Amino acid sequence: MTPDPAVSVVNLVIRGGYVVTMDSAGDIPGGDVHVSDGVIRAVGKNLDAPGAEVIDAAGQIVVPGLVDTHWHMWNTLLRGLSDGHGDHQGYFATCVGVGRHFLPSDTYAGTRLACAEAIDAGITTVHDWAHNIRGLDWAEAGLRSLAESGLRARFSYGYETGHPNDRLMALDDLAQVAARWPAYSAGDRIHLGVAWRGTGGSNPAMRVAPKLYREEIDAARGLGLPVSVHACGPRAAAGQVETYAADGLLGPDLQLVHLNNASAHEVSLAAEAGCPVSVSPFTELQIGYGLPVTGQLLAAGLRTGLSVDTTMLSGNADMFAIMKVTQACANALAYHEFELTARDALRLATIDGARTLGLDAVTGSLTAGKRADLIIVSAGAPNLGVLTDPVRLLVTAAHPGNVDTVIADGRVLKRNGVLTGYDVDEVTRSAREALSGVLARV
Ligand SMILES: [Zn+2]
Repeated sequence: MTPDPAVSVVNLVIRGGYVVTMDSAGDIPGGDVHVSDGVIRAVGKNLDAPGAEVIDAAGQIVVPGLVDTHWHMWNTLLRGLSDGHGDHQGYFATCVGVGRHFLPSDTYAGTRLACAEAIDAGITTVHDWAHNIRGLDWAEAGLRSLAESGLRARFSYGYETGHPNDRLMALDDLAQVAARWPAYSAGDRIHLGVAWRGTGGSNPAMRVAPKLYREEIDAARGLGLPVSVHACGPRAAAGQVETYAADGLLGPDLQLVHLNNASAHEVSLAAEAGCPVSVSPFTELQIGYGLPVTGQLLAAGLRTGLSVDTTMLSGNADMFAIMKVTQACANALAYHEFELTARDALRLATIDGARTLGLDAVTGSLTAGKRADLIIVSAGAPNLGVLTDPVRLLVTAAHPGNVDTVIADGRVLKRNGVLTGYDVDEVTRSAREALSGVLARV
């Protein structure tokens, strides 16, 4: 089932909620948000909104939609298989060994499952880091899932899992998609980027020659596209940022993912160049990259966002838990209770995450004139029933089950705790069928 934009673009006013704007207006207890034609018209108290449908948000929290900044959505189909399958042991080997048997329809099913989970969890912007593009059909399948979902997205066009180190990524296909981009952009909701291998990123099996990785990033930049690369994941792969700096490749259009093991010098190089960064705490912890170093990144002035990365390692797309563990790790490393506050963590998952994707003028805060990406978190459950400090509760107590309403680009994608654009039984059934087909071909 596809959300129909013509039907679901709304004119509504959310009344009387605890509004967390994440802009200079701060929090507005008992505030209203008026949304029409996909745009936030006004935020404040007792708004005049003639003809608008009213959502009573008394006792609830109204927050910008959460922003993911790096997620391999296709492999959501392989959730639970990070330990391995058959002869393939561990995350990377399983991704390659099983991922090479994906058909476009499997990419569609996996990405769609991820989109449904994102919406359910209150995420309204995703960065689909598509690194199993085995041909144009696979790219189009992922893009179709994103377009149908109603989510705001960056689609980073990548390579295929197991792509030979001595072969360029499919730059002609990338150029074709870029040339035809308006056909894929879902009316500007999706923008194109490039998932770049760089020197080989975090994958120990990937070692890409400088001639190739330079040609790839030059091609991406020649098309005017933002680029993202895994950098400094495991200890053995440290030094990548210095390599890129020496090559003159750092810049504000290059997102660096996983800086856990970057040296202080590398962090300062990234900051000087204005690189945005993405922190994926659960996957970094799970795969053994060490602790996320969010406090250091922020102290260096880096634009920082949070990410799901892969549900094969993170298990789920719970951005509330991602905020919580980010804050906890930062405080633990600093031996300081307030190294990262709850509001800092929420900022990373909203406006700062949007900034890392170049979307801060569009989303990430409840500001008049921005696109209407917002969520309503119900305070009715026992874990939120005593609404002391709403921001702290969002970060430390809330979970996706508390998300009552999700609005992305002005369309209601979840209401009263139920997804409006997906038949969840059908989404999970088709994902199960797709996975059995993939595993049968392995
Ligand atoms: Zn990743």
